[in-house]
Amino acid sequence: MWIDLRSDTVTQPTEEMRQVMANAEVGDDVYGDDPTVNRLEILACKMLGKESAIFVPSGTFGNQLAIMSHTQRGDEILVGEGCHILMHEVGGAAVLSSVQTRSFPSDLGYVDIHQLEKMIRGKDIHFPNTGLICIENAHSSGTVVPLKNMLEVYELAKSKHIPLHLDGARIFNASTALGVDVKEIAACADSVNVCLSKGLCAPVGSILVGNKEFILKARKNRKLMGGGLRQAGILAAAGIVALTKMVSRLGEDHKNARYLADRLEEFESCHVHRNRLDINMVFFTLTESVISESTLIAGLNTEGIRINGQEDGEYRFVTNHGVSIKDIDKVIETIKNIIVNYSCA
Ligand SMILES: *Cc1c(COP(=O)(O)O)cnc(C)c1O
Repeated sequence: MWIDLRSDTVTQPTEEMRQVMANAEVGDDVYGDDPTVNRLEILACKMLGKESAIFVPSGTFGNQLAIMSHTQRGDEILVGEGCHILMHEVGGAAVLSSVQTRSFPSDLGYVDIHQLEKMIRGKDIHFPNTGLICIENAHSSGTVVPLKNMLEVYELAKSKHIPLHLDGARIFNASTALGVDVKEIAACADSVNVCLSKGLCAPVGSILVGNKEFILKARKNRKLMGGGLRQAGILAAAGIVALTKMVSRLGEDHKNARYLADRLEEFESCHVHRNRLDINMVFFTLTESVISESTLIAGLNTEGIRINGQEDGEYRFVTNHGVSIKDIDKVIETIKNIIVNYSCA
């Protein structure tokens, strides 16, 4: 078994997931009669405190579906700099929804409400309409945004009659870190996208929630985007286990991330970004002269450990269901050996 620190998307479905998938009662979800998908959607509504929910193939799909269902062609959407919608969705908003994307400054997910307000468009005929605001929590930078800040953004959005979408791919990591019910976070936005296939270990799928009218629109747009799945209950069955059984263990990933950070700091050449250690992600730098990126990746790989290369000069190690304290100790010992060998070479 690999020790895989590349992401929490690498998590394998649990034994219970495989069992319920094999035995799932299914129908045709495009006709709306897959009982397992319907059960998952109702469960998601209850947990997130929203009227309606729709099962989608991925987190990217859920975000793009939300953008398409909230906006008109030619609208401008406001997204925080560094967020997933802007950085990691292939420019989908332009291609799929024909909207213009403009980013507002955001300090590790935290929104300066006054700066955001200034970016909302007025009535001048030269301006595009501000059709949507998007925020992210937990944030891709490894931080969690306090509820108070989210509420400020929501109040502003409501006062301007602009819908607010929350990319909550890791919303359960956020609720775990903040120590609040996930409903309280979801209550700070009109729609929320939630990943089942990250730390929660489902093999496939995300959930988009919102009010009835919005999800009805999203149902038609999901079909347009080619995301109308048929016997999707096979996948939804794992999603139900994800929501009912896997949320409460996320705190373990967070604790392990802190342990990993402590141990990485044993290396003098390592700097951990402690201000971004709210969830299951550890961001750090390693002095390139002490150990090069290619040497580190290759050296870990031979010992059965997978990591990603640096992004913007930083490594990101992500703890997840498949990574134990013992595994972390092995990672540290392996890095120690690589560094010793490297300096002798
Ligand atoms: C992973 C992620 C997504 C997209 O999920 P995929 O299922 O990989 O498409 C969206 N937003 C954030 C913040 C994410 O971390």
